Amino acid sequence: MLLDDVLSNNEIFVENFEPVDLPHGPQKKVTVVTCMDTRLVDFLEPAMGIGRGDAKVIKNAGNNVLDRDVERSVAASIFALGSEEVMLVGHKDCGMANSDINKLKSNMLERGIDPKEIEKVDLKEWIGAFEDEESNVKNGVDKLKSSPLIPRDVPIHGLIIDPVDGSIEVLINGYENK
Ligand SMILES: [Zn+2]
Repeated sequence: MLLDDVLSNNEIFVENFEPVDLPHGPQKKVTVVTCMDTRLVDFLEPAMGIGRGDAKVIKNAGNNVLDRDVERSVAASIFALGSEEVMLVGHKDCGMANSDINKLKSNMLERGIDPKEIEKVDLKEWIGAFEDEESNVKNGVDKLKSSPLIPRDVPIHGLIIDPVDGSIEVLINGYENK
């Protein structure tokens, strides 16, 4: 079982780990909003030169900032934890781009989700599907910039990473885009 595997790994980890006392605030004063893509695990941060204790990292499907929860976490990172910049990092070949909504719907029905519940929402909007990764990053930056709860002087950068070679491209430079 996977849980047993995790727990036995944890035992070995704790035995060999030298605890360090890190503060709550991000040492690089940055908040990263990115995708939950498995290829970015243990990859995005080193590709950005960010280590443990350096940043607040918020992840979800498709680095989507349409839901209020991302805005809330970004605001908390700024007002409660001392972040001074935000980097919204999308990635190429995102599973949320051009996702097959009909397939998603049939999978949900197959797993016993009540069709009435599915009909209550616009499934494409609800799941946060989008057409292309670059405009999704740009829309996300616009959304954060126009939030009345995020201060105007916080630079919000829009980046995109290639999950194969790790290269990062700047789509929006938050210092210039005030
Ligand atoms: Zn993704």
